[in-house]
Amino acid sequence: NTAIVWLRRDLRLYDHAALYHATRQATRVVVVFIFDTDILADLPRTDRRVEFIWVSLVALKSELEAHGSSLIVRHGRAVELIPQLAAEFQADAVFCNRDYEPQAIARDAQVGNQLQQDGRALHSYKDQVIFECDEVLTQAGKPFGVFTPYKNAWLKRLTPFYLQAYPVRTETYASMPAQPMPSLAELGFVRTNLTQLPVKHGSEGAAQTWQDFQTRIDSYQDARNFPAIKGPSYLSVHIRFGTLSIRQLANYAYHHGGAGAETWLSELIWREFYQQVLWHHPQLAAGQTYKADFNDIDWPNPDGHFAAWCEARTGYPLVDAAMRQLNKTGYMHNRLRMVAAAFLVKDLHVDWRLGEAYFAQHLIDFDLAANNGGWQWSASTGCDAQPWFRIFNPITQSEKFDPEGKFIKRYLPELAALPAKYIHAPWLLTSAQQQMYHVRIGVDYPPPIVDHSVARGVTLVLFKSVTGG
Ligand code: FAD
Repeated sequence: NTAIVWLRRDLRLYDHAALYHATRQATRVVVVFIFDTDILADLPRTDRRVEFIWVSLVALKSELEAHGSSLIVRHGRAVELIPQLAAEFQADAVFCNRDYEPQAIARDAQVGNQLQQDGRALHSYKDQVIFECDEVLTQAGKPFGVFTPYKNAWLKRLTPFYLQAYPVRTETYASMPAQPMPSLAELGFVRTNLTQLPVKHGSEGAAQTWQDFQTRIDSYQDARNFPAIKGPSYLSVHIRFGTLSIRQLANYAYHHGGAGAETWLSELIWREFYQQVLWHHPQLAAGQTYKADFNDIDWPNPDGHFAAWCEARTGYPLVDAAMRQLNKTGYMHNRLRMVAAAFLVKDLHVDWRLGEAYFAQHLIDFDLAANNGGWQWSASTGCDAQPWFRIFNPITQSEKFDPEGKFIKRYLPELAALPAKYIHAPWLLTSAQQQMYHVRIGVDYPPPIVDHSVARGVTLVLFKSVTGG
């Protein structure tokens, strides 16, 4: 009997729940990927993620070809192509790993219905998280809305079973000649600067990045907040596209011990926290705030503010350097995501949903649950969010987390000559100093778009208008 394994956000061939089950239940397993036009239609032609997926698939295809099989890659609507492929290969069932985003849930239901009408089955499995949906609930059986008790319950529920790998029986891969694969151009996309970026792609890149992080995990706790140094894992894109297995990562972090690994495991749990928040509250994907009162905030969206933020022209060096990092590389350091997001909302008074959408378009590691969670945390509208009256000061954040301005100078070479003490607020330079350090405020680098203390006051009024506080 034949089974199809439909890859989506699980682009690897080891420790893979759907492949594990398919290669045990069927004698012939066909692996497929669909470049789904329902998703691709809205993306810019220069989207780095499409290229990331494409190069990852090239690697998987040759891995399968080494086993005498191949990868079937098609371009079109998954809801139509999956049932068609199942018929073409006379498969009894399609196996896939679960995706918890509302649109993916709807797509899978549609595919499942069609397959059922055709006398076939869709089997879906938990793969991209250790605990899904309602596996971790409060004692009263309710979803958690606060991280720390969720984390404690998550850790309490953990047994070695959940960290075990799902081995794949490669001998059941369907033998077939090497299959053609559409080029990026045929998909309607162009090559980007992906291959020049530090982020390594495909399963090989994933393995290298993971190896490298294992040598640094012990210092993660101290190093992770400073964007100028190599502190975090840079694994987000691999976690997002499943080029690494979450069980492998969590298992290592759990058993390694020490403050670095413990803190890192907490971050993986944050990811699952937001995944279950989205699963329980799918309205978040439609722009709703987690705390309903905050839906009523009337964001002023002053003219020019959003564009200045996107284009790294706010005059606040740390924010601008962060936005240049995002625009150039598709990645932004976590500390900077918090600073840039808070700045857009609480200094520029722009609706957080615009920032969320901008990140969604530019981050290679974009993940709906994590991005929405991060934005609603920063905007104080989310669950377990930053309280609305706590407002990051972009200058002190800069002094604290990039004290020598090394990160700033990497992305804002126009400020390269500035000594550390002026780099965080260059508008304070006198004209003589501007001349001395080769930066003319208003010419080489913009003046600050807002005065932080004034902007802060406006934010407090905005929030008070809905909280009555
Ligand atoms: P590490 O510090 O090495 O973390 C390891 C992994 O843990 C990450 O790869 C990620 O999978 C997970 N993780 C870490 N922090 C968080 C968090 N706060 N929430 C959820 N998961 C987390 N992360 C995304 O993966 N995709 C997004 O679209 C995304 N958008 C964000 C938007 C905002 C406004 C904020 C504040 C955070 C966002 N994050 C997002 C979370 C976090 O910034 C990134 O996961 C992290 O910077 C990725 O780099 P890393 O892999 O080197 O992180």
